[in-house]
Amino acid sequence: MREGSAGFDVPDRDAVLAWLRVEDPEVLEGLWVRADAVRRAHVGDAVHLRGLVEVSNHCLRQCTYCGIRAGNHGLTRYRMSADEVVACARRVADLGYGTIVLQAGEDFGLTGPWVADVVARIRASTPLAVTLSLGERLPEELRAWREAGADRYLLRFETSDAALFDRIHPPRHGQSVARWDLLGLLHDMGYEVGSGVMVGIPGQTWDSLADDVMRFAGLDLDMIGVGPYIPHPDTPLAAVVGDGPDQVPADATTACKVVALARLVRPDANIPATTALGTIDRAHGRELGLRRGANILMPNLTPDRYKACYEIYPDKAALGDPGEDLPGTVRELLRRLGRPVGAGPGGRGNGSVAS
Ligand code: SAM
Repeated sequence: MREGSAGFDVPDRDAVLAWLRVEDPEVLEGLWVRADAVRRAHVGDAVHLRGLVEVSNHCLRQCTYCGIRAGNHGLTRYRMSADEVVACARRVADLGYGTIVLQAGEDFGLTGPWVADVVARIRASTPLAVTLSLGERLPEELRAWREAGADRYLLRFETSDAALFDRIHPPRHGQSVARWDLLGLLHDMGYEVGSGVMVGIPGQTWDSLADDVMRFAGLDLDMIGVGPYIPHPDTPLAAVVGDGPDQVPADATTACKVVALARLVRPDANIPATTALGTIDRAHGRELGLRRGANILMPNLTPDRYKACYEIYPDKAALGDPGEDLPGTVRELLRRLGRPVGAGPGGRGNGSVAS
């Protein structure tokens, strides 16, 4: 253990593993309290809103867990036009959010110049920060997008168990891309870099999950996304049952443990209460995430006519607009938690509160 912030030790790998294995809710309360205190000390109470726009569900990958994998032929495919994406960005800005997140399958139909143009148009017409989450793209494309004004890039490493990763994320052309190398490259290009994992992948062990948490610190991530694995019936992984003695469960509590530990090892990172967490526990998932270390929400602002087609797993939980004060909306959730909406882009280390 190392002396950390807010009076708490930064857990080492043994302590991380021990926390992951705790089941007693009273003992776990100690983890939630620590993560919440460290979150408050380092990034404050503000919750930053990122408008998520799912620009294309085309994907050339065959990830065995993901509903938009190339092999799923039961899905209507779409690719938004540049004008549609820019219109979404104006809506995100009008709602008062600080960031737009453009996410898609690994779709080379979104060409390098097309993405660069969309990024430049958003930067020219809104005050938004732009986050991209477009998969494993070429270094020259990533560089051009950064030059066009993209601020951040999200690419989860999903699991640090290399054999498990290759099983669930078959290499393209038989060649694994080391996601670590890509994350390092993104960092060197000047992006704020986000990564993260799924919790409860069949075959994932407590030991490998402890390694994942240690990677968050080792990679010095700016953003850390953690969500439970949710089986999609039209994917190969749905037929695989993880029933080894050391299998990590895909439940909200385990995902929250990883969120809380991520906060302890990377105190000033931006950490979302993810849609997957809100889906596996619709009543409380996002709230639990925000109480246990998270400081970001990513409401889905994909146009309704496309939303249902971006089905990475079934029944994704929606989150209403911040202007409404109804159950299930951003404003109602934050009011209940006594947490203000963050102002501005909310990059690493610049959390401020909307007036
Ligand atoms: N193509 C890009 C990539 O792979 O980074 C971005 C889109 S991908 C659909 C975004 C994330 O969705 C993945 O990193 C993965 O963690 C998550 N995801 C996909 N299928 C999932 C599932 N069945 N359960 C939980 N999360 C899932």
